[in-house]
Amino acid sequence: MDLWLKEGQIENAAMTYKIKETIHTEKTEYQDLAIIDTYEFGRMLVLDGIVQTTIKDEFVYHEMISHIPLYTHKKPKKVLVVGGGDGGAIREILKHPSVEKVVLCEIDKRVVDLSIEYLPEISCGLKDPRAEVFIGDGIKYVLEHKNEFDVIIVDSTDPFGAAEGLFNVNFYKSLYECLTEDGIFVAQTETPFYLPHVVKKVYTDILNVFPVTRMFMAAIPTYPGVYWSFTMGSKKYDPLEIDINNIPDLDTKYYHKELHKSCFVLPKYVKDLIEK
Ligand code: SAM
Repeated sequence: MDLWLKEGQIENAAMTYKIKETIHTEKTEYQDLAIIDTYEFGRMLVLDGIVQTTIKDEFVYHEMISHIPLYTHKKPKKVLVVGGGDGGAIREILKHPSVEKVVLCEIDKRVVDLSIEYLPEISCGLKDPRAEVFIGDGIKYVLEHKNEFDVIIVDSTDPFGAAEGLFNVNFYKSLYECLTEDGIFVAQTETPFYLPHVVKKVYTDILNVFPVTRMFMAAIPTYPGVYWSFTMGSKKYDPLEIDINNIPDLDTKYYHKELHKSCFVLPKYVKDLIEK
């Protein structure tokens, strides 16, 4: 018998994946969690029926959400990841020798525990002595830490449930306070194809808080619409003004120095959406 996962983020359209094996399912305090093995994408973390990360395409998302802000900052030492319990962003952040400490603030301990158990290729950075895991709400954590992080990465689920408060102007103001004086933050900001209203609101809110606001995009096969947006709010550095010749060759599969600026060149429908 064929078993398929039907992804549930978009109301009237869906992507489906043929399941090889259901490895683990549970209802955590915050969400329905599943780890499944699929024929095309390998193991997947699925939360509330929505694909979060897969062994085959996770590199795109984790490299882009990490290296774009880290190479835009001159010398990031202390980094915060809000959400991101699978550890993929942590693995990429730790490729930067200037980073002395990275804190992962994830609300759901079970995401961290099960990623360590079943997704070791993604979660491996969590074992590094520079990584600290804090289990708690990112909104509260950011409010309680002022002027502390050089880079903050908001690697959250979509804007409902526990993550709803990570997509509003008050949270962006508290991120501004939590950053050091030349700090930068980046968030995954959804699909402009299916959720243009969300993308526009988030971009406008960030623009109202940060002097430098830039959107970049990357093609992630398992995210609805494939072409996914990320928005950066920066106090000082502009990713379009850095000298890409200073970016070293990294052990990456998607990110490279020429892409550092070209990913900010947006298709016309996305440009129109955020500029008009
Ligand atoms: N790459 C993913 C995506 O966009 O599909 C996100 C991956 S990561 C697994 C998202 C994590 O954000 C989840 O594990 C979830 O528990 C966590 N999260 C949601 N709301 C949060 C909050 N308020 N504070 C901290 N973590 C939160």
